[in-house]
Amino acid sequence: MRLRYWTALIVTVCVAATLSFREARQTQVPVDALLTPSIDAPDIAPPADTGPDGPEPAEQPAEALAEEPQDARPSDAEVSTEVSNWSRAVEPGENLDVLLADAGLDAVARAEVSGAIGSEFDLRRLKPGHTLALEITADGRAKNATLEVDDGVNIHAAFGAEPSVRVAPPTLESIRQAGETEIENSIYAALEDAGIPTRFATDLELVFAGTLDLRRALVGGERMRIAWRENRLGDRVIGEPTIDFAELDLGEERYEVIWPEDGSSRTSIFKDDDLILTFDQPIRGARLSSAFGPRKHPIHGYVRMHSGVDFAAELGATVHATQAGRISFMGQKSGYGLMVEIEHAQDIKTIYAHLSAVNETLQVGQRIPAGQKIGDVGSTGTSTAPHLHYEVLVEGSPVPPLTDTHLSRIGDGTPHVDSPISIDAARDQLAALLAAADG
Ligand SMILES: [Zn+2]
Repeated sequence: MRLRYWTALIVTVCVAATLSFREARQTQVPVDALLTPSIDAPDIAPPADTGPDGPEPAEQPAEALAEEPQDARPSDAEVSTEVSNWSRAVEPGENLDVLLADAGLDAVARAEVSGAIGSEFDLRRLKPGHTLALEITADGRAKNATLEVDDGVNIHAAFGAEPSVRVAPPTLESIRQAGETEIENSIYAALEDAGIPTRFATDLELVFAGTLDLRRALVGGERMRIAWRENRLGDRVIGEPTIDFAELDLGEERYEVIWPEDGSSRTSIFKDDDLILTFDQPIRGARLSSAFGPRKHPIHGYVRMHSGVDFAAELGATVHATQAGRISFMGQKSGYGLMVEIEHAQDIKTIYAHLSAVNETLQVGQRIPAGQKIGDVGSTGTSTAPHLHYEVLVEGSPVPPLTDTHLSRIGDGTPHVDSPISIDAARDQLAALLAAADG
């Protein structure tokens, strides 16, 4: 039973500790029902990596190297304009100095390059597969050095009259993909069999929570078609793919889901061609890292009440208001860190905690539409890694945010910041992508 691994994967310490004495309400949905087994750990706090081959050889601290006097360099007039190019990937056990020596640089030239690159990149994080490219002048000094590290990020250092170091993000290509699969045992297995990113199982579980009991509905033989986007650098997929559209054909009924493009947050569910539900998630493309309800402390083992849900997300990811309302609090609160609280109709509130920043254009008391950007993901308050703690309170008591329908029922006619996406356009695109995949 892979589901149980989720409890082991929950490493995000959240505000639950501060809320432990809040009376635990009924959890309407067992944790298992909300979660999909996943082979991936939550996308948080990757450990600093010393590489698979053990600690690297000792290296001079980057700071010491960065302070190398730069005026020891010969002036441009003395330097031949002829340059040679050298490049290769880091191999196990190598540090930057070893590579630079291999390129034929002397100790002074090596220190200059290490110092420059080390000023923007922690050289202890150098790993096999990272690539160094050098332009070397006729007198054996580096003219330009480029280190390509994880995910295609480049650190460029230029030497000579105007030395500089800059970090360049990769130029990614956004590709649309589609796939089709039949469910036999679980959505997760069906995705895996068809080569569709398995992380979408979580997106599907989240989106159907409260609408469709997937465990009851799926008996085997259901068909699923999915369209998604991914970013590529050459042949490599960079970052996490994002689901755009899903069609779930249960035989008797057909469900379709449209997820919004980046920059918006409204998701639409259709059943047999009718729009049955639109709702907003506070954050796009994020993974649920901790469910609502009582949970066992990952280290100490005792059970505490988690008053909301956690989404693991990158630092700075945009957080959206899930429903129209009035901002009732914005600022620091013990445990929650920097947070925004929005008061909706009928004594319903939403809370967005651990933010790194709030949207400075907003003020307490201001009315905002659903989908409004309210802040950025952070790790303030009782938190060990960037994530959003999202809470829904009804008459002051927390309810399960993903399944409770109070929020979706209070649509007061305030238009959403984004216009809805056409189901016809989504279907056409899926069909075209599947046809292209077949051809
Ligand atoms: Zn939390």
